[in-house]
Amino acid sequence: MEILQGIAVSPGIALGEALVIDNEGFLIPRSFVLRESVEDEVQRFERAIAAAADEVLRTQNSMTAQLGEQVGAIFAAHLQILQDPRLRREVETAIREHAYSAEYAVTMTLGAYAKLFQQSPNPVLAERAHDIVDLERGLLRHLTGRPEDELGQLPSAVVLLAHNLTPGETAKLKPESVLGFVTEIGGVGGHTAIVARGLGIPAVVGIGHFLARLTGRERVIVDGNRGLVILDPDDVTLTRYRVELQRQEAVAAELEPLWHMPAETRDGVRIRLMANIEYPTEAKGCLQRGADGIGLYRTEFLYTSQHDKPSEEDHYQAYAEVVRAMQGRPVVIRTLDLGADKMRITRAAPEDEPNPFLGLRSIRLSLRNPDVFVPQLRAILRASALGDVRVMFPLITTLPELQQARQVLSQAMADLDQRGVPFCREIPVGMMVESPAAAVLIDRFVKEVDFVSIGTNDLVQYTLAVDRSNPSVANLFQTADPAVLRLIRGSLRAARNAGVKASLCGQMSGHPVYTMLLLGLGLRELSVPPNSIPEIKRVCRSVTVAECEAVAAHALTLDNASKIETFLREEYQKIRF
Ligand code: PEP
Ligand code: MG
Repeated sequence: MEILQGIAVSPGIALGEALVIDNEGFLIPRSFVLRESVEDEVQRFERAIAAAADEVLRTQNSMTAQLGEQVGAIFAAHLQILQDPRLRREVETAIREHAYSAEYAVTMTLGAYAKLFQQSPNPVLAERAHDIVDLERGLLRHLTGRPEDELGQLPSAVVLLAHNLTPGETAKLKPESVLGFVTEIGGVGGHTAIVARGLGIPAVVGIGHFLARLTGRERVIVDGNRGLVILDPDDVTLTRYRVELQRQEAVAAELEPLWHMPAETRDGVRIRLMANIEYPTEAKGCLQRGADGIGLYRTEFLYTSQHDKPSEEDHYQAYAEVVRAMQGRPVVIRTLDLGADKMRITRAAPEDEPNPFLGLRSIRLSLRNPDVFVPQLRAILRASALGDVRVMFPLITTLPELQQARQVLSQAMADLDQRGVPFCREIPVGMMVESPAAAVLIDRFVKEVDFVSIGTNDLVQYTLAVDRSNPSVANLFQTADPAVLRLIRGSLRAARNAGVKASLCGQMSGHPVYTMLLLGLGLRELSVPPNSIPEIKRVCRSVTVAECEAVAAHALTLDNASKIETFLREEYQKIRF
């Protein structure tokens, strides 16, 4: 057995036979055509461009229909590159001036562009190299007359192992025949990752070189939740994963009837169960599972699916897609939370911050960069004309910061007024409570907002001084630490006294073990990852508020996180579903 650690880009577990695909590309030697055939060669290249463009257009249409506009837009961008006259001119010049074969001219020109992207210090731009490779492979397939690759027609259900899968290749995968995939290269922000998540195929990328030592007959486990790949698992591991897979499938089947039932406690208190999303394509699944709305739309992920900085229109299109999909339910759009562990925008965030979590991230970055912030706010306001849109500011730590953000919002409103564009002037404005400063000063903050949402991922990190992304201190990241619970309790009390709505959207809300505690602390709204909605709903429907209050009261008497965790686990075991 060999365990490899990679980057988890699409959640879920896959277990099956490996199929190593040799798609490392085409090895094109430097080759020439006769001088008198040069124009024929240019024509051959033109025909390949037309055929490749046709293929990309088909992928664009099918992805748009299957996964929505945003994923479709990845392929619209591919099409634009293919049709870029400069690129064509460069290839044609290489053919005409050097009498290169079309294959060699293509591989040389596109290869140079891919390398340029690859070397970019900006990880978002570096990921774009895969898009160029995708186009190069498409063109070479048409030039060499190789048949459409077999990815779309695999004979049986397998786990794909490859050096790399381009976005176009991933789009061809059929979830019924590809249980999961693993690649040697790739990153979390790549288009391949976005397409895999959209298709619901568990995936781990960026494993590093491992294919050379495989025979191709291995049994493989892909753990898309933890970023693990296990080759030839031993019996114990295999059994453990089989049980986990069966449990996941059984729970999912058991919970399906709950999808359209309200999250209401046994004593009739309605809990609003909202969803956390990153991509517009996720909205449909949230609605299916019976979400009451979107409680956290993390907009920074818009930066992963674009070649350039998203424009106001790009923002607007993405928000409009979510608002329409949610059919009148509330959608809380959080303004950009870039920096630290999230995507960076090169010019705005210094690449070499010694302590990025305490650096220029989130609202600080937005306030420092009005050219990024104002267009986003205008787009959110425009989307507010289409439905129940709310705007939320991340990582607020001081009152002046909140006031400044509100001023920028007013400026965005004035811009739209001047343009005569409709929007909802009374758009609810909220803030995340995710710094200890915000939680301590909450009685003052709640006078200036319409709602608050507690972000426990950051609140735990900053309260306990534990970097949330550092594996060597992961054991110290204790969500149920008594200090954190006091900050949550205090925030909820202040919000209730001020008549301000409060929610909790950190990872904590998606773990059923914490649901009784959170309801007992007074929460009546939770925003959870889409997959957790049914499981959290089941807990809500199986308990009473009085039981939850007793659990919370006792948890708060305990003096460390382990005791609280153990107690909450025991109480969870007692729930009768
Ligand atoms: C949080 O910090 O709890 C949160 C929801 O925000 P993010 O995880 O996006 O930082
Ligand atoms: Mg946060």
